[in-house]
Amino acid sequence: MARTAIVTGGTRGIGAAISIALKTAGYKVAANYAGNDEAAAKFREENGIAVYKWSVADYDACAAGIAKVEAELGPVDILVNNAGITRDSMFHKMTREQWDEVINTNLHGVFNMTHPLWSGMRDRKFGRVITISSINGQKGQAGQVNYSASKAGDIGFTKALAQEGARAGITVNVICPGYIATDMVMAVPEKMREAIVAQIPAGRLGTPEEIARCVLFLASDDAGFITGSTITANGGQYFC
Ligand code: NDP
Repeated sequence: MARTAIVTGGTRGIGAAISIALKTAGYKVAANYAGNDEAAAKFREENGIAVYKWSVADYDACAAGIAKVEAELGPVDILVNNAGITRDSMFHKMTREQWDEVINTNLHGVFNMTHPLWSGMRDRKFGRVITISSINGQKGQAGQVNYSASKAGDIGFTKALAQEGARAGITVNVICPGYIATDMVMAVPEKMREAIVAQIPAGRLGTPEEIARCVLFLASDDAGFITGSTITANGGQYFC
């Protein structure tokens, strides 16, 4: 029987590519999003993938959203924690709100989604938790103290939880993309984007599909012995 996957932030950018790749591979897919109804409706229409609106920053909303998905598609075997935001600012100018919004979405959101699903995965002795962190969680990035902290937190979360899930047949892994051509990066001024590309040995931005293929592998039975891993996909920009 087809396994069920939830992809947070699954209607745009990297998340949309992940939702499509999972559906194409035969999974039942629920694509979550936060507020962009227009993009979500277009995505559902074009791809025939069910969309669900809630904020990953809200624990109760996550629990309710997950219950709805499970009632409609069946128990969730695969969670892709992809939703993420930036609120960039140099630290001396960073507001408490910019800090809180990013931590609440990128780090608390990963707890809020994984925690309600964890018992079911343990009971069924199968699960895949795949979180999209970032190169900037590995190396740190000026102007992104909030984002870098949240994404480094996602890596620590993964390494610890992987140890708890291993005997229950649950793998927990994290992917650290470099710069990928999505709205998030296209919002960066063109001159700055050119400077970013100049730092990438591959000489180009990555594509959402390249990240989706990493997710597809980690979700598969073939990846059953891989847990606690950080997959780096950044065109050679940073090694750790
Ligand atoms: P986009 O900005 O293109 O899309 C973000 C998605 O996340 C949207 O679907 C958005 O929903 C959703 N989202 C945002 N906040 C919430 C929330 N509170 N609850 C639920 N969904 C939410 O982002 P990208 O595709 O570029 O990035 C995806 C992930 O990859 C992020 O975690 C990002 O940090 C990470 N990443 C991206 C890189 C890049 O270069 N693009 C590099 C490294 C990591 P809605 O459509 O409703 O707004």
